Amino acid sequence: MNRFAAKLAEHSLALRHTRTEILQVNVGKLCNLTCVHCHVNAGPKRKEIMTRDTIDRVIAWLAKTDIATVDLTGGAPEMIPDFRYFVERVTELSPRRRVIDRCNLTVLLEPGHEGLGQFLAAHQVEVIASMPCYSPDNVNAQRGEGVFDASIKALQLLNSLGYASDSSLPLHLVYNPNGAFLPAPQAELEADYKRELYDHFGIRFNSLYTITNLPIARFASYLKHNNQLSAYMELLNNSFNPQTVDGLMCRNTINVSWTGEVFDCDFNQMLGMQWKNNDRALYLWDVDPEAVAEREVLTNDHCFGCTAGAGSSCGGALV
Ligand code: SF4
Ligand code: SF4
Repeated sequence: MNRFAAKLAEHSLALRHTRTEILQVNVGKLCNLTCVHCHVNAGPKRKEIMTRDTIDRVIAWLAKTDIATVDLTGGAPEMIPDFRYFVERVTELSPRRRVIDRCNLTVLLEPGHEGLGQFLAAHQVEVIASMPCYSPDNVNAQRGEGVFDASIKALQLLNSLGYASDSSLPLHLVYNPNGAFLPAPQAELEADYKRELYDHFGIRFNSLYTITNLPIARFASYLKHNNQLSAYMELLNNSFNPQTVDGLMCRNTINVSWTGEVFDCDFNQMLGMQWKNNDRALYLWDVDPEAVAEREVLTNDHCFGCTAGAGSSCGGALV
């Protein structure tokens, strides 16, 4: 039994799927940035991207379900050639599904992506955008030189298209710590962000989500390089909060890779912890959506990142 499973058992808790409400699709590892905290090891040279054939199979499976939300992530999901095709196919489904784009903002200004903001607005795609600070130094240190200015321009563009003022165009920001520590309380940070971004740049957004960095991939390398990995693991372990377990995103989400393989969450995907049947990897189209409830979630020590303090999920703090 891993340490996380032992901790759950100590608290008489189990981690099992409930009804699936979110299909999270990681369409690939291609990205225009190479952030220090990236759990995907994404970057401009990555070749792994979802093909149109796989998109069609995902859409065909989704059409047979009543899963209400499709959460597109990457990499920079907008950079795959069939991103707009994917969004169009999802928004044509009946009943209508909510579509989320996990956006790094800078991609909205990249050559070759002209009209992307307008496309997102026209299809009422909810934007959840990474913005690790409201001051340039922290953003540039984590995401690269010039990223802060580009992110501000992109947020102003989204506001000009109606994001954060039109109720059909939600715009949420994501904060993650710039090092080996837990996020500050979400409500306090949100108030700071709202004040600073509006006062200095006239930017509005709906909510701020705080997300804890999980000790995997590029962030694990960063911790190892700085000799902080074991201290960070201890921090996460010592901050275990049993009240977060009910709300963990792996309970109501199915996560799919660019190949169509299925996981409990994007972190498990990066660790190669896919769903299997008799040692054979399961693809989305092998999964009976009605048979997912009560399925046990695969865990390991990285899961302590989701249960530390106020908890962490794709929708921010949990308690
Ligand atoms: S954290 Fe997001 S924006 Fe940064 S490299 Fe990874 S996928 Fe790209
Ligand atoms: S990493 Fe978090 S979301 Fe993923 S399985 Fe573990 S607890 Fe659940």
